[in-house]
Amino acid sequence: MPELPEVEILVRHLAPVLKNKTIRRIQVRRAKVIAPTPERHLVQALQGATFKALVRRGKYLLFTLRPARRREPLLLVGHLGMTGRMFLLPQKAVLPKHAAVVLNLGRYNLIYEDTRYFGRFTLDTSSLSRLGPEPFGPEFTVEYLAAALKRSAQPIKIKLLDQALVAGVGNIYASEALFRAGISPRLAAKRLKLVQVKRLLHAIQAVLGEAIEDGSTIPLDFAGTGRRDGLFYYGSAGGGSDFYQERLRVYDHHGRPCSECGTPIRRLFQAARSTFYCPNCQQGA
Ligand SMILES: [Zn+2]
Repeated sequence: MPELPEVEILVRHLAPVLKNKTIRRIQVRRAKVIAPTPERHLVQALQGATFKALVRRGKYLLFTLRPARRREPLLLVGHLGMTGRMFLLPQKAVLPKHAAVVLNLGRYNLIYEDTRYFGRFTLDTSSLSRLGPEPFGPEFTVEYLAAALKRSAQPIKIKLLDQALVAGVGNIYASEALFRAGISPRLAAKRLKLVQVKRLLHAIQAVLGEAIEDGSTIPLDFAGTGRRDGLFYYGSAGGGSDFYQERLRVYDHHGRPCSECGTPIRRLFQAARSTFYCPNCQQGA
C-alpha cells in the first residue's frame, strides 16, 4: 500500500512529464474511482484542459489544470488507495485490464489503474480539509504533536495512522518510526512523555525522508510490471534486490532478530492491521 514516500516519488516522476500536456480525450472505465463527481461533469471539465502543476499533500496527488474555457484553475485529486498506480503509456499500447481512467494526451495516455478500485481520481476536494499537517511542514512541531497526543487514549500506533494528526503516515512507516523512537506501539498516545514525543517526531521525519531519498536514486518501474518488492508497490525496475526490505527495520520482519539487540521481532494486530515491533527495544505500556 503506497504511503507518503511512494506518492512523493510518483509526483516527482509525473510532474515534469505532464507539464503543459493537454487532455484530448477522457475515458472513464470505472465510475467508482471518480465518485462523487459525475462522469459527464469530469469529462466536461477535463476536455481540453492543460496540466500546469502537480504536488503531493499527505498521500494525495493534487493536479492543477488550466481548463479550456474557464479562467479559474481546476484541481484534480488523485489517491492510490491500496493498489492504485499512475503512469504514461504510448497511445498505441494495449490498455491494462484494470485501467480505471484513461486521459489521452496525444501520443501518450495517462493511465490511472487500480485492481481493487479503492483509490480516487476525482474533482471532489472534500477529503483534503480533514488532513493534518505535513510531516515536513512548519506546523508539525513538538508542541503541536504533544498537544494532539494528549487528547487521545488510543495506542500510539493506531493514532499515528490518523491522517488528521499528521498526513501521509501509514502502516509501514508507523511501525518503523516507533521502532526508531524506541516507543511501544501499545503505549496510549496521551501517556507519551515530551522526550518521547520529540524522538517520535524526528523518527517520523527520518524514516519518511530516507525512503524518499532511496526512492529517488533507484530506477523504478512505475507501470508495476516488474517484481513487487512490498514497499515500492510498483516494483523496482530489473535487478530484484531486497534493497527496500533490508532498509525496513521491523515491518514484515516477524520472527527475525532485531537489528539493535537480536530479540525476535514480534507482530501484533491493532485495529485489524499488523504492527511489527521489538519487545526489548520498545518497552512500556
Ligand atoms: Zn531490539
